[in-house]
Amino acid sequence: MTTDLTIAGVSIKPGSRVRLNLPLPPLYTKDDLHMAVTVIRGRKPGPTVFVSSAIHGDEINGIEIVRQLLLRKNLNRMAGTLIAVPVVNTYGLFHRERYLPDGRDLNRVFPGSANGSLASRLAKTFMDEIVRHCDYGIDLHTATRHRTNLPQVRINRGNEDAERLARAFGAPVIMRSEIREGSLRSACADLGITTLVYEAGEALRHDRPSIRGGVAGILNVLAALQMLPKKEKKTAASPFIAQSSMWVRATASGILVPKVRLGERVAKGQVLGELVEPTDVGSEKLLAPRAGIVISTCELPLMYEGEAAFHLAFFDDLGDAVAEVESFVELHEQPMPAAEI
Ligand SMILES: [Zn+2]
Repeated sequence: MTTDLTIAGVSIKPGSRVRLNLPLPPLYTKDDLHMAVTVIRGRKPGPTVFVSSAIHGDEINGIEIVRQLLLRKNLNRMAGTLIAVPVVNTYGLFHRERYLPDGRDLNRVFPGSANGSLASRLAKTFMDEIVRHCDYGIDLHTATRHRTNLPQVRINRGNEDAERLARAFGAPVIMRSEIREGSLRSACADLGITTLVYEAGEALRHDRPSIRGGVAGILNVLAALQMLPKKEKKTAASPFIAQSSMWVRATASGILVPKVRLGERVAKGQVLGELVEPTDVGSEKLLAPRAGIVISTCELPLMYEGEAAFHLAFFDDLGDAVAEVESFVELHEQPMPAAEI
């Protein structure tokens, strides 16, 4: 851990908790805009971890995860440093949009540049002011609008440290995925910073199991990094690692009538949904290409041919993976005891 930590020109000492406003390019009305940052530095040395959310401006589950995380009293006894950024894409959040006002996807322009587009400048600010101080990162996302993701942690293929932390996180499913050029995870990998991406729920919605699972997961990772003394109890016992996944796409335009739920186990050839026609009796069945678990569903039934309808993940041991999904949802559906906050 570095002794000196300076963000937005403010020096943050060990044993302190600081709330900062990182200046961003203002609105065209000349109103100021900023990125809110909370830094908690323990007295004892340890790793520095960032938690970021709303890189896509309409993915609001993560904002609530960060808010609930920062209420936890045990963070006062933490070793090392936590840097929490609940809203990275402030512009997108204002517009209730995934992208920046210029239509760019912030998660495709990392590490950014000081002279580039608005998105690129925002990415550069985030890298320089937050990421470069860190040893680890946890980036919170949801599915895109009108889709829901089963809680899952995505890690870079071949990163054993990431796999250890992803298991500690305790989401029911871990996805090993290829690095996407321009993503925060890719820029972090270039700097040797291990980053987990937690994907859970739907854009523009709060989902309680996803939120509670996210808070518990982050605390579990901090415990695995020995920044906190003990693990949260609320965790899937042994997450399952998806060997691969694929989107099942609409084979025809129509109105989708789903026949399976999120987290459901499906057999090869099982009907996932039917594409029906509003003015006719015809229908087309969407079939599972092989046995798997539904990890993302489409919430908007109006489909053009080729649109993604169901995301299936494939595992070595399907039976246990289903049990993990069920126990996770059950744990996090329960109301939060007052003692926890
Ligand atoms: Zn996202």
